[in-house]
Amino acid sequence: GGGVHDPFDIFSSFFGGARVGGGGGSSRGRRQRRGEDVVHPLKVTLEDLYLGTTKKLSLSRNVLCGKCNAKGSKSGASLKCPSCQGTGMKVTIRQLGPGMIQQMQQPCTGCKGTGETINDRDRCPQCKGEKVVQEKKVLEVHVDKGMQNGQKITFPGEADEAPDTVTGDIVFVLQEKEHTKFKRKGEDLFLEHTLSLTESLCGFQFVLSHLDGRQLLIKSLPGETVKPNSYKGINDEGMPLYQRPFMKGKLYIHFTVEFPDFLSGDQVAALEKILPAKPQTQLTEMEID
Ligand SMILES: [Zn+2]
Ligand SMILES: [Zn+2]
Repeated sequence: GGGVHDPFDIFSSFFGGARVGGGGGSSRGRRQRRGEDVVHPLKVTLEDLYLGTTKKLSLSRNVLCGKCNAKGSKSGASLKCPSCQGTGMKVTIRQLGPGMIQQMQQPCTGCKGTGETINDRDRCPQCKGEKVVQEKKVLEVHVDKGMQNGQKITFPGEADEAPDTVTGDIVFVLQEKEHTKFKRKGEDLFLEHTLSLTESLCGFQFVLSHLDGRQLLIKSLPGETVKPNSYKGINDEGMPLYQRPFMKGKLYIHFTVEFPDFLSGDQVAALEKILPAKPQTQLTEMEID
């Protein structure tokens, strides 16, 4: 946090895990505890990822109480918790059997492990001695063109504040909603389209409205046939590339061809006249006496 570039962020993004909790502080030479990161999923449409968008999100978070400077008391004084003598921990001893005891250490419930209490009359009226207050904050999340499902957008140091703690990050994880028309694979888009047999042989055209609302006229070349289960690739009509949005992937159209179930004798005769000749049968028909 604190705007300092942290090389460990690179590793955590490789492994897809959020850095959570106060662990690892000493290895990075930090004396203060590190607060937890807060991770939120953020649902986005394919249109959002194609065009880029800004989402305003209202979140409530704990911030240090300004009235008492996060002391919790009007005077700034605190008392040693009488329940744990200021250690923040309570040791309980259980007799398990003759000569056997179990010793357990737990955070003190009287002071929530802080080791201090505040005199009731000295309690800060703003935070009621909690040292933090809730604040509503609106975050503007910029979703850039070409971002991917699962990509993280981090707001360093915007998680809950707590005394003597380096504030953790708020992390939004993009969740791409399924699109009714387009499927995305990386920078490419895929579209299903069904042609009649006549269209597949004699040419076709159709209008496709793209993710940005543009109407594309998709048509076959003169004389071009389309085989069932084939793809047609269109350059620069896929997704924009992240941080290079002027470059785009490909749009692949996957064709299904609907064949007629049955042809009449006249249709068969007409087709045989214009289509290439059938291969000659190699075997001579056997005659039966
Ligand atoms: Zn205590
Ligand atoms: Zn206060």
